[in-house]
Amino acid sequence: MAYVIAEPCIGTKDTACVDACPVDCIHPKKDTTYDDGRPKFEDVPQLYIDPVECIDCGACVPVCPVSAIFALDDLPEKWKQFTDLNESYVKAGKFTPEEFGKHQPKSSWPLFLEMRCPAARSVMTRMSNPVDIRPASRKRGNNQRGPVPRLPVLPTKFEEVARNLHLTKEMYTSSHELRLWCIENRNRVYIPEWLLGEWRITVEPTNSDVT
Ligand code: SF4
Ligand code: SF4
Repeated sequence: MAYVIAEPCIGTKDTACVDACPVDCIHPKKDTTYDDGRPKFEDVPQLYIDPVECIDCGACVPVCPVSAIFALDDLPEKWKQFTDLNESYVKAGKFTPEEFGKHQPKSSWPLFLEMRCPAARSVMTRMSNPVDIRPASRKRGNNQRGPVPRLPVLPTKFEEVARNLHLTKEMYTSSHELRLWCIENRNRVYIPEWLLGEWRITVEPTNSDVT
């Protein structure tokens, strides 16, 4: 593998590198539908370099506005996982849903389940953990009598994700998985304002169906 796109691309995806690449090996392309079932441009958090087709020319590096592209030898240790992540999207022009699914953080599965991507959807469905559904217990007798019980305070979707990742509040900003999830879901669920500010994540005002 020659060059790798790392975390700074997430949420940027301005595609300057795609225009600069002489061999067309950075994917997915904007406004393009693929017949092999791979996720489209709007369905992925970042772009990926095909490690087989990349000719190691370096033309994409200087045009990236957020310095997200690295030669493999220069890739910072903290982003080493992006090598496999780039490779999992397409390799020698071929998309394999199993490979791609293996490298997606669990927190982004719900998003992929909603994607218009049947191949990825079936992979994610097979990889999901079974849901723990327990039968509800009900007390016998007149439930209208006595004080009205207080309703439990339910955690928000964000709190559920942070809890599943075993994060305390102090650990939020250093969690790559949480950041990725927030970027993907920023227009869909409530995310604490201070965290959006910390990561400079913007929420689109047109998507005001946040609950
Ligand atoms: S190094 Fe060259 S061939 Fe490889 S992705 Fe960048 S521009 Fe394309
Ligand atoms: S790697 Fe850089 S230039 Fe390419 S899409 Fe991502 S942010 Fe844009």
